Amino acid sequence: MTALHDVINPATELVEASVPSLSLEDTDAAIARARRAYATWRHVSPGDRARLLRRLSVLLDEHNEELAQLEVRNAGHTIGNARWEAGNIRDVFAYYSGAPERLLGQQIPVAGGVNITFHEPLGVVGVIVPWNFPMPILGWGIAPALAAGNTVVVKPAELTPLTAMRVGELALDAGFPEGVLQVLTGKGSVVGERFVTHPDVAKVVFTGSTEVGVHVAEGCARQVKPVTLELGGKSANVIFADSDLAKAAAAAPGGVFDNSGQDCCARSRILIERKVMDEFLELLEPAVMAVRVDNPNLTTTDMGPLISAGHLERVASFVDETTNVLMRGTVPDGPGYWYPPTVVLASSRADRLLHEEVFGPVVTVVPFDDEADAIALANATDFGLSGSIWTRDVGRALRVSRGIESGNLSVNSHSSVRYWTPFGGFKKSGLGRELGPNALEAFTEVKNVFISTDT
Ligand code: NAD
Repeated sequence: MTALHDVINPATELVEASVPSLSLEDTDAAIARARRAYATWRHVSPGDRARLLRRLSVLLDEHNEELAQLEVRNAGHTIGNARWEAGNIRDVFAYYSGAPERLLGQQIPVAGGVNITFHEPLGVVGVIVPWNFPMPILGWGIAPALAAGNTVVVKPAELTPLTAMRVGELALDAGFPEGVLQVLTGKGSVVGERFVTHPDVAKVVFTGSTEVGVHVAEGCARQVKPVTLELGGKSANVIFADSDLAKAAAAAPGGVFDNSGQDCCARSRILIERKVMDEFLELLEPAVMAVRVDNPNLTTTDMGPLISAGHLERVASFVDETTNVLMRGTVPDGPGYWYPPTVVLASSRADRLLHEEVFGPVVTVVPFDDEADAIALANATDFGLSGSIWTRDVGRALRVSRGIESGNLSVNSHSSVRYWTPFGGFKKSGLGRELGPNALEAFTEVKNVFISTDT
């Protein structure tokens, strides 16, 4: 009999559902089904594959509210965020439904014949998803993989499998053949690990912690298996004295406290030009205190709970009686894994709060002296995923954008990820890029064919 594990609502601490914890044998059987399905799926015509992706996008739209409500119960996301997330996976499927007919090769001039390239699908792709954005991250992996002609096995996070399971059902309703997209619930060390070690899984897409990502990459290297890694972050929000300080201060809480700080792109370091630090902190305080931490079902709520009791304990461990807490919001009474929005001042540039990913609503402020210092400080991290730059000087905005070692930057905003632009990290934040027009390259191999005209 298949073992079950409980899924807990982090705002109520009540069991929301019990889901199967699949075994190694179950995983192998699913990979074998995916391999069999690949034999026919790869030959489905581009137009028909596109039509199926479009149909799933329509179904995801029709079920937007249901999926959003499910995510509120499973992940404790605010209902506003959850609606956006359900909309994101819908839009990602709509976007990549345009891809099958546009997967163009090249014709390269050669003597004595014709040289053409094909983008061949890889086979079975394994997608491993974390708990912080269960629906968007699922979509970023599976939609381009399917569009390119691969079949997919998905491992959602143990804490947040419910929306992925529902998306898997909707895919069958949309008409995807059995075995083309399978959602396998269970442990990372069992199901996820098998994607890495199984020779019939041709590629792994992993989003999660840098620690597990390194382990996944090591395993893939043993089989020379391609891998995309989307890992942690410690992104800088760099605020210059010449910026619109009021606007920068009003936006800073959203840049780090959204999704309770459980965001790989969270701007969890505020780098502020020293001469305006006091003025900035005065402007920041009311913005932080206005962040409403409450029942995630309310549309007035800005921030919900953390994902689990264990994660709450980990986040809380970063702030103790020696920490210089500048500002701290409030949380509701009663059950739930709550942690208040918290702003701290770095004790030094070596402070662990400037280097380790908290993955919670804690932001660390540190002053800088000039542009060169700001860039050096922004880069004084192992990570390089995201970041923001606030200035009215266009030249400086470009210089600093080019200077910061990070994959995704925004100027005078904390722009979120756009599915039609590339996303990924420098340094220990990852390997490869997702989303945007070139995502199918990560799910195909280029084949070069020469045809002699000398007959
Ligand atoms: P995690 O690394 O613990 O788990 C991620 C996934 O990997 C889960 O599904 C887990 O079950 C699975 N897993 C665990 N052990 C495994 C193994 N041995 N083999 C294969 N799979 C295994 O991460 P998490 O706590 O779920 O997520 C938080 C982390 O994810 C943070 O560090 C965050 O920055 C990162 N993240 C990065 C991005 C990005 O795009 N760069 C996006 C979201 C989250």
